[in-house]
Amino acid sequence: MPDARKIDLQYLKGVGPKRAELLRKELGLSTFHDLMMYFPFRYIDRSTIHHVEDINGEMPYIQLRGRFVSFATHGEGAKLRLNALFADGTGTIELVWFNGARQVARQLHTGREYIVFGKPSEFNHRYNIVHPEVDEVREEATATAPTVGNSLVGVYSLTERLGTAHVTQRVMQRMLSTLMATEAARSLPTVLPASLVASRRLLPRAQAVRAMHLPQDVAELQRAQFTMKYEELFLLELNILRYMSTRGRKVKGHVFTRVGDYFNRFYREVLPYDLTGAQKRVLREIRADMGSGRQMNRLLQGDVGSGKTVVAFMTALLAVDNGFQACVMAPTEILATQHLETMTPWAERLGLNIALLTGSTRQSERAVIHSRLMDGTLNILVGTHALIEDTVQWARLGLAVIDEQHRFGVAQRAKLWDKGAVPPHVLVMTATPIPRTLAMTVYGDLDVSVIDELPPGRKPVTTVMRTDDQRERVNRFIGGQLREGRQVYIVYPLIEENEKLDLLALEQGYEMVCDTFPSYRVAMVHGRMKPAEKDHQMELFASGKANILVATTVIEVGVNVPNASVMVIENAERFGLSQLHQLRGRVGRGADRSYCVLMTRHELKGATRHRLEVMTQTTDGFLIAEEDLKLRGPGDLEGTMQSGMPLELHVAKLSQDGQIVQLARHDAEQWLDNDPDLNSPEGRRLDRELRLLFDKNHDWSQIS
Ligand code: ADP
Ligand code: MG
Repeated sequence: MPDARKIDLQYLKGVGPKRAELLRKELGLSTFHDLMMYFPFRYIDRSTIHHVEDINGEMPYIQLRGRFVSFATHGEGAKLRLNALFADGTGTIELVWFNGARQVARQLHTGREYIVFGKPSEFNHRYNIVHPEVDEVREEATATAPTVGNSLVGVYSLTERLGTAHVTQRVMQRMLSTLMATEAARSLPTVLPASLVASRRLLPRAQAVRAMHLPQDVAELQRAQFTMKYEELFLLELNILRYMSTRGRKVKGHVFTRVGDYFNRFYREVLPYDLTGAQKRVLREIRADMGSGRQMNRLLQGDVGSGKTVVAFMTALLAVDNGFQACVMAPTEILATQHLETMTPWAERLGLNIALLTGSTRQSERAVIHSRLMDGTLNILVGTHALIEDTVQWARLGLAVIDEQHRFGVAQRAKLWDKGAVPPHVLVMTATPIPRTLAMTVYGDLDVSVIDELPPGRKPVTTVMRTDDQRERVNRFIGGQLREGRQVYIVYPLIEENEKLDLLALEQGYEMVCDTFPSYRVAMVHGRMKPAEKDHQMELFASGKANILVATTVIEVGVNVPNASVMVIENAERFGLSQLHQLRGRVGRGADRSYCVLMTRHELKGATRHRLEVMTQTTDGFLIAEEDLKLRGPGDLEGTMQSGMPLELHVAKLSQDGQIVQLARHDAEQWLDNDPDLNSPEGRRLDRELRLLFDKNHDWSQIS
């Protein structure tokens, strides 16, 4: 049987060496199997014909059926442009070609009937379609040509360079249908055990893959998608669970049996408030872990402001009480500094040594820290990535706390492990609320603790929605807060897609703010800045020297400026709810009353409005996260989760496929109960597949 993984794409009919090279470079596809698994990112229903009179600005790709009324060309040479007027009895619409205009003009004729396919856009207050696909309607052709009149057609994500090399959607679709007809595709072996295929009503792999590209109908497509998602998640869970049991057997941990002097004195004499019930519970869970003889790997989830820092510090005290050192890592210099500032007075009261190590720690200081780590006189080290640099050696590292871990790459976490024969206990803290079942998947075998209670006396942040034409009112409000000595955040979105435009918006926003509040100092940070400049600007705001901070979402994580009372979020509809929640968490940390203003260009409608309204109605991060999942908002939660993953998911989406995750986990657990080492014939096939999938990530097994 031909093995699709071993056949080079150039041997596919219609591809050849040149295109194969292009597909490899642009999309990373080299074999038949790669291309097979390159699924459409959406599907177009080609069975529906729209009417010109119904076209509006929010339509995706649509189909029209009608005749050309006139053609007009403008410009010349390479700049030649073709404008064609197309009518379907309900109205006319302009179709425009910038590329290949001359050729297109030759092929089209008035009087004949065509099906036009494309995405309408607005230009000069009228709709047009740029570079539509056009098919002539011929009675005998409609029966055979898959692109005319037939139902679901896949749309692939392609690059611009593929486009210029004429690898268009059409060409991709044709390539895939050729591929699906090959023996290699038809004989694609099923990976999952037959019992699961039957019990979960999956399609055989070959059929599922085929249906992903060339679905007969919606029902088949849905079953295929379910099959592929299930397969992906089952393999993922299988891998996670397998390492979990391996680790359970193998990874010893330091045994911290004593709750000693430091912990108790801190609790009785230093702690300035009572711990919340949730903080106490979490500390109990941590103590149980640390006494178990196994290495602790615990994820501590707690909403912004729920008081994770003190839990981290008390956990560090447990290590110190047992004769070990502890480190606390933060993703940025400013956050590390804040942790140090919080913890230094506590440590001093207890007579413990604490220090800060970041990228900008001076060489002389660094040398002192290194030697004090080695001789054991430094008890707690706070810092950034600098902590995991190779030169840092510990006498007895017993605990690593990692704050806002999603900013740390998996590989970086792994580096901690080389520090000693027995690995330190690990406490990962995050404010990103992820439903528990998903957290288990995202963070592999981390145990999960949750602080689900805020310290008493918090005043919820008042959240409102405002539009651009209410800006003066918003500015008056900001002015009032500034006069009371409060500080203000103004946040702009920054997404990769049109980074330049976003940066421009931010800079214009900055100018505008400076003009509006000339007597106040304004700081600005964004992701494109050099780290040193960013830290400087942040510091201006954190120290109160700047009154207003204009920023992109770089401030999202952990920054604590209690005097800030207003968070203005521009183009709020472009943020995910969880992200808005994180941003909002920057205020309400000290000031008597705090406010969050969600700015949008226009009054929002429908689902978009409903989504933002959730923010005005609740401050519960978990509720918001779940709402985010339900509403399938922009994928920032997805992104956050993915960045913690050992494997990039291609078909399944953690934020949407929670139920399949649970099924897959359940089934994987059962499978391993019966076949723990994957030694049965079917188990061996799974094992082989896992190796193929996880090969690139093999280090992962040692990480969490
Ligand atoms: P986060 O979980 O977002 O890191 P922090 O640890 O920064 O939250 O805590 C937020 C604020 O709450 C801090 O000012 C801290 O002093 C305060 N805090 C923490 N725990 C308690 C508590 N049990 N009672 C009162 N205030 C607390
Ligand atoms: Mg924090």
